[in-house]
Amino acid sequence: MNLILATSLAAAGLVAGWGQRAVIVRYAVPAGDPPLRCCPDCGHRLLDARQLGLAPLARCGACGSRTGPPPLAVEVTTALLLGALAARVHPGLVLAAACWLALCSVPLAFIDAAVRRLPDVLTGPAFAGTALLLLTAASADGHWHVLARAGLGGVALSGFCLVLALVSPSGMGMGDVKAAAGLGTMMAWQGWTALIAGGFAGFLLAAVYGAALMISGRATRKYQMPFGPFMIVGALLVILTGA
Ligand SMILES: [Zn+2]
Repeated sequence: MNLILATSLAAAGLVAGWGQRAVIVRYAVPAGDPPLRCCPDCGHRLLDARQLGLAPLARCGACGSRTGPPPLAVEVTTALLLGALAARVHPGLVLAAACWLALCSVPLAFIDAAVRRLPDVLTGPAFAGTALLLLTAASADGHWHVLARAGLGGVALSGFCLVLALVSPSGMGMGDVKAAAGLGTMMAWQGWTALIAGGFAGFLLAAVYGAALMISGRATRKYQMPFGPFMIVGALLVILTGA
């Protein structure tokens, strides 16, 4: 394990988390609403220097009201993820693809958890960036068969989610289908076992969480649980453990 690389990427993750938080606040709005550009309480612009200064503390820089996920949650999550990926994923271009996917997936998970949607502005770049970096990695090493498997894996997971979304639109949406493309591509780059394990882990985590909510009486049968965060956690677990 390269400690300097892991530490550097973790530090980069802390800084990136700052920007991701701005994306989360902007896009964690109900479907159909325009992206949030100003503080809902005082109307101060979200990209103002004062706003960004206090952003990691989850406070509006002008009026102090709570904005976005809990203090440092996004920043620390991204730092730990990038640091762990640096320790586990090789070579450099594949690591870059995994880091890019993680950078897009963290805000996706937070947004889906908050408002149950996975915006195209994140799922599109998540897939495109991951695919492009893996294409570069394949051309550097001549591992075209691995790239083909990754592409097929993205199509397979996405297609599987599409079937579920068509059969049960309340359980899965088109955002999940699009997010699955990037996650499936990255997992299948590691292998078919990784793709199946990661996909299964997502469904298992969602089922366990859903059952816990029902048993504890915090959700009824009508509650629509976001699936994105579970799919993302399942995929990242597999990418990190190399299952
Ligand atoms: Zn404010």
